[in-house]
Formats: sequence, structure tokens, C-alpha cells
Amino acid sequence: LTERLETAFKNIKGEARVTDLNIANTIKDIRRALIDADVNYKIAKEFTDKVKDKAVGSKVINSISPGQLMVKIVQDELTELMGGNEAVFNITGNPAIILIAGLQGSGKTTFSGKLANYLKTKKAKTPLLVAADIYRPAAIDQLMVLGEQIGVDVYSERENTNAIEIVQNAIKEAKSKNRNVVIIDTAGRLAIDEVMMNEVAGIKAAVQPHEILFVVDSMTGQDAVNTAKAFNEKLDFSGVVLTKLDGDTRGGAALSIKYIVDKPIKFVSSGEKLDTLDVFYPDRMAQRILGMGDITTLVEKAQAQFDEAEARKLEKKIRKNQFDFQDFMEQLQQIKKMGNIKDLLGMIPGMGKAMKDIDISDDAFKGVEAMISSMTPFERANPDVISQGRRQRIAKGAGKTIDEVNAFMKQFDQMKQMMKMMNKMPTGKMPGMRR
Ligand code: GDP
Ligand code: MG
Repeated sequence: LTERLETAFKNIKGEARVTDLNIANTIKDIRRALIDADVNYKIAKEFTDKVKDKAVGSKVINSISPGQLMVKIVQDELTELMGGNEAVFNITGNPAIILIAGLQGSGKTTFSGKLANYLKTKKAKTPLLVAADIYRPAAIDQLMVLGEQIGVDVYSERENTNAIEIVQNAIKEAKSKNRNVVIIDTAGRLAIDEVMMNEVAGIKAAVQPHEILFVVDSMTGQDAVNTAKAFNEKLDFSGVVLTKLDGDTRGGAALSIKYIVDKPIKFVSSGEKLDTLDVFYPDRMAQRILGMGDITTLVEKAQAQFDEAEARKLEKKIRKNQFDFQDFMEQLQQIKKMGNIKDLLGMIPGMGKAMKDIDISDDAFKGVEAMISSMTPFERANPDVISQGRRQRIAKGAGKTIDEVNAFMKQFDQMKQMMKMMNKMPTGKMPGMRR
């Protein structure tokens, strides 16, 4: 989707003025891109109609380029489509009861572990995980293993075949042990069926959860939307969790679900590691879809991983467009520690695209690291001084060809251009740079 939208914008970027004709063409491109990304036709149409109205309405503003104007409008509308503001996640009960529902394989158990880890480490909560999947003994083991990894207790009753009873006993246990959050991992089926729905609805009625989260595999596209609809009719859930975002290149589910069920997406999960859970921010997601990167999340991840002061320095440098090779090298080292490298790189503006086709493993950075290592400190701090002569020397030092060095320099340049463009966004503030 990102790529298709970029093409749509490219065609209007060269134009000096916004006209009805170039708006119409861009709109058509955007609509087609959305539909190809598995966004429901009706939503795509409504979306582009809104963008068109806004674009036509602001034709008079000629201080910014048509391309920038369109990007801004689309970004705002995407944000709106995905819910506008960050949704509230209610963990105020004591214990707060959180019910997890969804199809089998959607990622419920993995998410339950991630959520427990998130609440424990980020919110200073004392969660208790409950294995309420009574059909598969392996499911209990799976949750036990996760619980052990994050140091959270798991409540289970292997002999009991009444899920409601198990959950009620778990809540009693949580109260007696002073646990302030209870996360209930339920059973799923491969397809929606009456028995499963009634069971989850029964748990809901019996324990009145504070949050009911519907977990859905974002890779399932339109199916994700249909499943969401069915679950919502039966459960009236309070939020959606999109999993496997690391495998979803099209982004259609994220764009359609909020619209169809009118429930906010609360979390996104993108990897099998237990710390790859993120709170969902519609504006950041919109930026990611537009290929503008997601600096805010990157900076937050960086903050979590290393020093606050360090992260602020990085943010400042990106803002002032002073990001240099030394910073690049330092980021590389940090990123390697943070895991899920491709994901993180995608958050740097312009970087996602540059790295798209590369199979990223830690080794993939070796070449880049070698090139930066072969630069003098002066060169690292002043990328502009790196002339052809210097490039020859760097290539030799790094055991690379001059073409490889040139290609890397070009990529770095593109990245900086992208950062610069973001700094100039018409909002006056950098999108995503909220604090
Ligand atoms: P459940 O049946 O709904 O409980 O689903 P599981 O939590 O057991 O997950 C099903 C499979 O998807 C497992 O192999 C998980 O490791 C995998 N999985 C879960 N979440 C993610 C994710 O965010 N990204 C990726 N790539 N895999 C995931
Ligand atoms: Mg499970």
C-alpha cells in the first residue's frame, strides 16, 4: 500500500498547482491502491470522496506544493479512519478483568503473554494469566511457558471442563493473592461457530470484564473484517488487537476494521518476541502507511532501550537535519539490540523503502558498519565533505567497491531528504513528534 500511495503522490508532486484534473487523477490512484490493499470498496470510495472534497476546498492555498497538500490531507483522513485519537485502555478495576477472544491461531495466547508483560513492566501491574482454553491441553502448556518467560503466574485447572468456573476461580485466586489484573486467554475455533461464541459470551456474562479484546490476524485481510463483525455482534467487545502486523504488507485490515465495527484498535503486535506489543496510535499508523516512517515509536523504543538523554539528542538531530554517520552507526548498534530489525528500520523516514528488498539479519549491517568505520570522525560528522576521492579510500578500507559506497551514500542522502521533508510539513510541527 505504501508504495502504491507513493506513486499516486509522485504524479502530482511535479505539478505547480492543484487543479481539478490532477486531484481527480490522484484520487483515482489512491482509491485503486486502497482496494488493492484489501480495503473494502465502500470504505475506499467514501475515504477518497472525503479527501477529494478537502483537496478541492483547499485549492486556494498555494503556499505549499500540491503534493504536500495531498499527503497532508490523506494523512489526516487515514488517521481519522483508524480512530483519530489513541483509545483508552481500562485497567482501573481491582482486579481489572480482561477477556481475550478471537479465532484459533489469531494470536490470542501470544498476545495474552505480551499484554501481561506490558502491564507488568510498563504499568507496574501484577497480572494473573488464566488458561481458559479447555479443549487443548497444549494451549495450557503454551501459556505456562509464556508465563514463565515473563515471570507471571498462570492459573489453570486441567481437569475442569467448565470454562466459566475456571475463570471465576481464577478471579477468586487473584483477589486472595492481590493481583490487580486478570487476563483470560480463551479457546478459539478455526471458524466462527455457535459453541465457541456461546462459551465466550457466557464468560462475559459471568464475570463482567472491564475490557474485551478481540484479537485478529491482520494478514487475513477482508476475512479479518468479517470475523470482527461476527464477534462484535455476539460480544460487543471493547477493542481490537491486530496481530502479525510484521507479515501484513498491505495494511487493509487496520484501515477497515475500525470503520466496520466502530470499535477502536487498542494494540498492535508485530512479532513472536514477547516485547513486540505496541499501543495503537492512529496518527503513527497513518504515517507508516504513507511511508513517512514512525519517528515517535522509534524514539520511544530507543528510550526504552537506552538513555533518555541520548534519545532526545537523536530526536533533535533529526529535527535539525543534522543526522550524521556517527548517529547512524550508533543507531545501528542500538537497533541490533532491540530486535525485529526490519520493523524498526521501517520507522526511520525513507529507510523502510530503501531496505525493503534486503533480507535483514544482523549480518546485513556488516557492510554498512565497515563503510562507516572506514570514515574519519570528521567525515562521519560532516557527510557533505565525502568527495569521490574520500569514497575511494573508504571503499578500500571497508573492502567494498566504489559502487557500493556510492549506493550507500545515496541511500543515506535519501534518508536525510525524507527527514528534511518531514521537518517542513505544513502543520508546522513534525507529525508524530508529540510530547
Ligand atoms: P491462538 O490460537 O489465538 O492462541 O494463537 P497463538 O497465540 O497460539 O498464535 C498462533 C501462531 O501465530 C503462533 O505460532 C504464534 O507464534 C504466531 N504469532 C502470534 N502473534 C504473532 C505476531 O505478532 N507476529 C508473528 N509473526 N507471529 C505471531
Ligand atoms: Mg491459544
